[in-house]
Amino acid sequence: MIIVMRPFASDAEIEAVTALIASMRLASHVSRGSERTIVGVVGISEDKETLLAQFAQLEGVESVVPISRSYKLVSREARGDRTIVRLANGAAFGGGELVIAAGPCSVESRDQVNLTADAVARAGAKLLRGGAFKPRTSPYAFQGLGEEGLKYLREAADRTNLAVVTEVLDTRDVELVARYADVLQIGARNMQNFGLLREVGGARMPVLLKRGLSATIEEWLMAAEYVYGAGSHDIVLCERGIRSYDPQTRNLLDLAVVPLLLSLTHLPVIVDPSHGTGVRTLVLPMSLAAIAAGADGLLVEVHPNPAAAFSDGPQSLTLPNFSDLMARLAPIADAVGRSLPAPALAV
Ligand code: PEP
Ligand code: MN
Repeated sequence: MIIVMRPFASDAEIEAVTALIASMRLASHVSRGSERTIVGVVGISEDKETLLAQFAQLEGVESVVPISRSYKLVSREARGDRTIVRLANGAAFGGGELVIAAGPCSVESRDQVNLTADAVARAGAKLLRGGAFKPRTSPYAFQGLGEEGLKYLREAADRTNLAVVTEVLDTRDVELVARYADVLQIGARNMQNFGLLREVGGARMPVLLKRGLSATIEEWLMAAEYVYGAGSHDIVLCERGIRSYDPQTRNLLDLAVVPLLLSLTHLPVIVDPSHGTGVRTLVLPMSLAAIAAGADGLLVEVHPNPAAAFSDGPQSLTLPNFSDLMARLAPIADAVGRSLPAPALAV
């Protein structure tokens, strides 16, 4: 159930609502928008009609909306406006400006990260991506540099005014990764790792939640519900392709989820065309298509020398490929009423 407060309801009115919820031994989640506050009530098992009438009578309450969907806190109805995930460097997912995150699949060396950060910041990216803890299919494949990699990312991002998004694989590393990152990434393989979702939610910092390899939209939104319920409300959903039968692409990039999610949830939605296709030449056209479909941004793999990459070389853009992509995005962004931010570094 969602309680929508009148515009500019007072703090005392909001507190009266949460106090009544607590007295019924139910949990509340308060979302303060620019004008309106919305209070989510979770845990109701019976007699919804009586509860609905009780809340509707309180001062400052505009309406009470029962939500029959399995996901509640992240549903479109739960908020009067969209969530905008704002980062310290000015990037804002879900605002009018597109947010592009770019960088290597794996952090390999200080030089590799610095070279990439300079190039992507000059081209207009706002986030530096890179894995320091890598989820590899083979235990014999490169597993990431760990904390050393996190240091390289932070150093390069600070120098270029980029924010850092990087994956956390294990509940035991959440605190460590949170010390270096601006956004914690939950990878596709961990989308339903419920312990990790709760732990990351408890960090109360922005989270990038990738779609699981074969997750339905409902399962994905329920995963977001775990993170939201645990305390991190700034969640960005990232479509990265789902398993299919055709080996010509690594995954099947499901762009229909973009407009669909924008109708189902208030959370921002971005697209990862690199893992979504696995093929370098497909990254540019699918990036353009993602933005045309309404995505709030992109997550793109970029490497100074893809042929020598420790992981995902075949899908990584070169540095010039990435500047070309940014230039080609501008007219598409314009056509759908979006803009690209000014580069973090002067060209
Ligand atoms: C990544 O972005 O580094 C990654 C491992 O992607 P995914 O979890 O989508 O496979
Ligand atoms: Mn990768």
